[in-house]
Amino acid sequence: MLQKTSHFMRQANFIGGEWVQADSGGTVDVTNPATGLVIGTVPKSGKAETRRAIEAAEAAFQSWKKTSVLERHKLLRKLHDAIMDNQQPLAELLTMEQGKSLAESKGEIAISAAYVLWFAEEGRRAYGDVVPSPWGDRRILVTKEPTGVIAAITPWNFPSSMLSRKLAPALAAGCTTVVKPASQTPYSGLAWGALCEEAGFPKGTVNILTGSAGEIGDEICANPLVKKITFTGSTEVGKMLMAKAASTVKKVSMELGGNAPFLVFDDADIDRAVEGAMVAKYRNSGQTCVCTNRFFVQAGVYDAFVERFSEASRKLKVGAGLEEGTQQGPLIDEKAVEKVEEFVADAKAKGGKVVAGGKRHALGGSFFEPTVIADAKPNMMFMKEEIFGPVAPVFRFETEEEAVKLANDTEFGLACYFYTGNLGRAFRVMEGLKYGMVGVNEGLITTVEAPFGGVKESGVGREGGHQGIEDYLDTKYVCIGGLGL
Ligand code: ADP
Repeated sequence: MLQKTSHFMRQANFIGGEWVQADSGGTVDVTNPATGLVIGTVPKSGKAETRRAIEAAEAAFQSWKKTSVLERHKLLRKLHDAIMDNQQPLAELLTMEQGKSLAESKGEIAISAAYVLWFAEEGRRAYGDVVPSPWGDRRILVTKEPTGVIAAITPWNFPSSMLSRKLAPALAAGCTTVVKPASQTPYSGLAWGALCEEAGFPKGTVNILTGSAGEIGDEICANPLVKKITFTGSTEVGKMLMAKAASTVKKVSMELGGNAPFLVFDDADIDRAVEGAMVAKYRNSGQTCVCTNRFFVQAGVYDAFVERFSEASRKLKVGAGLEEGTQQGPLIDEKAVEKVEEFVADAKAKGGKVVAGGKRHALGGSFFEPTVIADAKPNMMFMKEEIFGPVAPVFRFETEEEAVKLANDTEFGLACYFYTGNLGRAFRVMEGLKYGMVGVNEGLITTVEAPFGGVKESGVGREGGHQGIEDYLDTKYVCIGGLGL
């Protein structure tokens, strides 16, 4: 099995269909967060390599855009099958560099494949319009055309699926791509090069390179051949990319930070809420942009919720992702642990009560205990900032209005969750929450069929759903006159 895993562990850039090193020969180390050991290197690329990747994508675009939608559909289906045929080695590679449990990695690889299949199908349904004309002798057509070269910058928390929902709609629409995976988890990104080769995509349709984020990002933003940037990552970097992309007026789609609230009302099914809370908090060790950042629980069920949630949190099995039965892996690195410690210390200093976990795990390294903090207050750091770790602050509230107000008191607006057994309240609260995605009595809502994305400073654009391909298509209006009708 390890041999198969190493087949996908490519320690080179994939540019114009060739596996190549950085011009300087420089490399960046890649570490396994469960052991702290270096598992390999990847090229330290900069501007020149990025420019070549963009030029390769532009050259490939000239013929790729002319392929029939059915031809692209068939290749994407082959890509889907190649991913699923190799689910195990791809998941092992993901766990090795990212840390999450093997079960979660297998789930991520499966959803990666599912996005490919979904967009293979959606590509065939990128309809235009024939619009009733106000003129007797003219006709109006509205067509959709591929946008061109797409640059995709992806994060380390879902190094495979975040790429899939950019790459798959781009290729389905007839675009070509330049991809920069996160430096912490480059192999799951580079593996797509091997997979696309195996599926038979033409050289240059998919280009992947690793290295200096700043240099690669600057070239992507400045190069006029790039027509769109799709980014998933921090709000800080997203804003900077939007500003830089403005110089060449590129299309942008941004999946940025979140500050998800999770509301539990007195009339909720508490067991169901606890079950939802576990997945909405601890998936990927709390390192997802849709992970709950703030729990708000109504006074009547507060104690019961805290008790049951803490008990379930204490039972989570923390360990290396490749070990059988692991439910929570390590955090991505030492910096992430320090940040989580800062949140806990701040809460304790302001009267928060640690009722589960609260410190580094006995396993050492970047492992952290699943942590619940009761008596959370709005002046604590996690009211405003994204935790990105296994820490669950639980606030108490009295009224529905108060809860919705607290939930909306953030510049972010990605995902939110709430639990109630009252239908009227379900609609009131759902309509009152300023978020791009709402889970009602559900803690895990991401699926390829639905549009993922945020409002406010959580981003622009949607990934998945039928909406997810629109960003990769340009609308063209054609007026045909002189028809003598
Ligand atoms: P995180 O906090 O999740 O690491 P980042 O926004 O720093 O989020 O990283 C997300 C992606 O953006 C990664 O691929 C990272 O390398 C890339 N990135 C970071 N800084 C820049 C930059 N200045 N220009 C372009 N990409 C960047």
